[in-house]
Amino acid sequence: MRQKIVVGNWKMNNTIAESSALASELVAALGKGFSGCEVGIAPTYVALQEAGKIIAGSAVQLVAQNCHYENDGAFTGEISTGMLKAVGCSYVIIGHSERRQFFGETNATVNLRIKKALAEGLKVILCVGETLAERESEVTSKVVTSQVTEGLAGISDISTVVIAYEPVWAIGTGKTASSAQAEEVHLLIRNTITKLYGDAAAGKLRIQYGGSVKPSNAAELFAMPNIDGGLIGGASLNAADFAAIIKAA
Ligand code: 13P
Repeated sequence: MRQKIVVGNWKMNNTIAESSALASELVAALGKGFSGCEVGIAPTYVALQEAGKIIAGSAVQLVAQNCHYENDGAFTGEISTGMLKAVGCSYVIIGHSERRQFFGETNATVNLRIKKALAEGLKVILCVGETLAERESEVTSKVVTSQVTEGLAGISDISTVVIAYEPVWAIGTGKTASSAQAEEVHLLIRNTITKLYGDAAAGKLRIQYGGSVKPSNAAELFAMPNIDGGLIGGASLNAADFAAIIKAA
């Protein structure tokens, strides 16, 4: 039985004060002693420290939105794994489609970042997913398989890796993949992992769905056999909605 994992990706939203307020509301909405599933929030870098203080001692973990693959140095605008660990992050999201689309991230750079994060003891959420054009030209399985295979190239232990399937056409568009559409790709990902790492590792791997998850569709998605939680964007910016999604897992 895989423990579900639900993470809120706050993207480039909220000041430090707003992030702290949202973190407090979330902790209150979940209630003391919540243990239904693994939960995380990924505020902006500047808000990590304050949000981290607020969630300390709660079930909510601190997640970063990216990390660099070098220890330090001349990499303007980047952040190191050491900095993220020092502020209390346990997970880091790597290869989000917005990084791939707008900031030139490739499977090769995703792979470098994952290797570094794992080597430094951070758990990883690897994001994969096809664009609308790729889905329409029926190359979804090819694209997703290569994102998984190339993203994890040279990595022998995936016990602290989570994969998030986020179809790009469903992100922030209000268009959710149907539970059947999502399940089909989640199964493909699990089968890909079986080929690469064997049955036991594939059976343990958590695969989150992301893309317009809301309180009204979360339960149906999370009930699918290969959907092990969600990576939530817009709806995680509202504590009540995010708590409802978490409780559906
Ligand atoms: P939305 O939930 O806003 O569609 O975003 C999903 C996402 O990109 C999470 O990483």
